[in-house]
Amino acid sequence: MNSRWNGQFSCYDLVAKSVRRPQTIVSVGDIAFGSDICVVMAGPCAVESERQVLRTAEAVARSGARVLRGGAYKPRSSPYSFQGMGVEGLKILAKARSETGLAIITEVMSETDVEVVAEYADIMQVGTRSMENYSLLERLGTCGRPVLLKRGMTASLEDLLRSAQCLAANGNPEILLCERGIRTFETATRNTFDIAAVPVLKTVSHLPVVVDPSHAAGVRSLVPVLARAAVVVGADALLVEVHPDPDKAMSDGEQSLDFEQFESMMRDLDAYTSLRCEMERQSAALVGGRV
Ligand code: PEP
Ligand code: MN
Repeated sequence: MNSRWNGQFSCYDLVAKSVRRPQTIVSVGDIAFGSDICVVMAGPCAVESERQVLRTAEAVARSGARVLRGGAYKPRSSPYSFQGMGVEGLKILAKARSETGLAIITEVMSETDVEVVAEYADIMQVGTRSMENYSLLERLGTCGRPVLLKRGMTASLEDLLRSAQCLAANGNPEILLCERGIRTFETATRNTFDIAAVPVLKTVSHLPVVVDPSHAAGVRSLVPVLARAAVVVGADALLVEVHPDPDKAMSDGEQSLDFEQFESMMRDLDAYTSLRCEMERQSAALVGGRV
């Protein structure tokens, strides 16, 4: 890592790794982000109907996901695109939780929606377009739920950590940092997956790091290989878009996996997650002088 880039002149001490605070575990029920397992969160980009969400929840739970994703409030580039189902969508997500036991992550776009979203969600998602919405971050400081903070499209890692500091300074230390690809000149993928972001963030911050390979890739064929890469470099969790019929999805269908593709991705990840656990166990033993 560039030695001049180490938060020397920055202001994110609350989220910076230190000897006193090497790693934060963010717990949601019995799910631990930041432990030695890689948690998988999966589901549709947007909540479209009860049937779509319940079918997806059952399928992703069967394949090993622990958290269901789904946007009820959608940030869309066009005002004419589907904007999400709002509170109706939140109720559908809550029903899926009670039927499958999955925890729920969903996006909150505005500080005026924080209360209602926190009523239904287990994890509040701050989208890439909202990373610098400081009034939203301030309000999320006291929402009583963990926050997944997505990296802004053109944000440096230092910018991301500053926004995390904003959440922490306003009273919420339960933060998950999320790399979801950044804007570059490359057009082969929707965004450019900054793979180095994972080890950099894990070196300088004590917060768990999540990778969203779906928005990074923009095409479904690349999602499994980016997910695998994320596991290998130490991501604490994945956020993956899955839809019962991706070609008919109301948003982000091109980057969504169908159930079979998700199941196969999860099977493929097994070998890499076990290898990572073993490597971490060995290095912990080395540090503890037991090997
Ligand atoms: C999403 O998760 O569907 C989403 C809108 O993501 P991002 O904020 O990364 O674009
Ligand atoms: Mn999406």
